[in-house]
Amino acid sequence: MLPMVDLKTQYARIKSEIDREMQEVFDSCIFIGGPKVNAFRENLEQYLGVKHVIPCANGTDALQIAMMALGLKPGDEVIVPAFTYVATAEVIALLGLTPVMTDVDPGTMNITAAHVEAAITPRTKAIVPVHLFGQSADMAPIMALAEKHHLFVIEDNAQAIGANYSPLLGGLGGATGTIGHFGCTSFFPSKNLGCYGDGGALMTNDDALAAKARMIANHGQSKMYYHDEIGVNSRLDAMQAVILNAKLKHLDEYNAARNRAADYYGRVFGQIPQLRIPAREPTSTHVFHQYTLQINAPDPAKTRDELKAYLLEQGIPCMIYYPVPLYKQPAYAPFWKGGELPVTEALCASVFSLPMHSEMTEEILGKITGAVKAFFERG
Ligand SMILES: *Cc1c(COP(=O)(O)O)cnc(C)c1O
Repeated sequence: MLPMVDLKTQYARIKSEIDREMQEVFDSCIFIGGPKVNAFRENLEQYLGVKHVIPCANGTDALQIAMMALGLKPGDEVIVPAFTYVATAEVIALLGLTPVMTDVDPGTMNITAAHVEAAITPRTKAIVPVHLFGQSADMAPIMALAEKHHLFVIEDNAQAIGANYSPLLGGLGGATGTIGHFGCTSFFPSKNLGCYGDGGALMTNDDALAAKARMIANHGQSKMYYHDEIGVNSRLDAMQAVILNAKLKHLDEYNAARNRAADYYGRVFGQIPQLRIPAREPTSTHVFHQYTLQINAPDPAKTRDELKAYLLEQGIPCMIYYPVPLYKQPAYAPFWKGGELPVTEALCASVFSLPMHSEMTEEILGKITGAVKAFFERG
């Protein structure tokens, strides 16, 4: 079976550096925080062009810490896309805030300013745009709307690290995750910049917010054993920082390799009328965390099941991100006003993602595209 993500080959190429640096961590016995974590923080700040990176334990914690640092209070409404990974809404609900779920654009599968605007009420306090599958949401109009309505913007950048947003009509551009009041990212192993365990970070250009987030991530302490806020324990460890330092140097290469694979997929799949290939927006580079196609057929879910079974027989995996709208998940249904979001519903029934990683070869791509093509030519 081909892997969805090939971390083994990637490790083999950076093994000597990782093994050497890992030994240094063992010898130093500095496991939480310390020089390796500080070096990674500085390297990532420089790479993203952002004033502050606050490393933490995972991407979900990063989102939670951001919402705590912004002082969001129970009852406050936070706008999120209904087509996303659950973590985005989970922390909102966990803090007693109200997730307000919106539809997304059928091409980019991202939330837009129009969706946000329609969901704003007097209780709205924040927006969480998710840069889904590796491409930036159109941030300039979202930031303009946020400013007009005095809302905070927290970018969920877990899938798009290394992507760049450049608005067509002016406004703030830059690395995704550095445009909103906070950006949050995950270093889960399969993410574009993944460690060998759990890890995450917040990004911000605001000194006061950075100080607050740093304090909250460390038990709300302003100095050792003095606790000003109720915080959490969410720290990055030195071993993960070693992996991240080694991989950050290659992140642009990794993302370029993903783009070459996406180009190959696009050349073949663009010719198959039953498939819709991922839209690429002029406002954003795409880092293809996932390569996600939509099936264009009378009963897309049925065709998808058949395709999935056909590919599996040939040792080709495919995954469905995401099969159920957030508001139809039992945990989040209580926050739903009723009705359905047509684009989210259609996407959940028609999307599928194929293997995508930094180690895709022509041989692998040939095998996958050949099998998908053969499936649709069978009739
Ligand atoms: C992975 C992911 C997260 C959560 O990250 P963890 O490190 O697994 O907690 C949040 N949002 C999105 C969109 C993700 O893909």
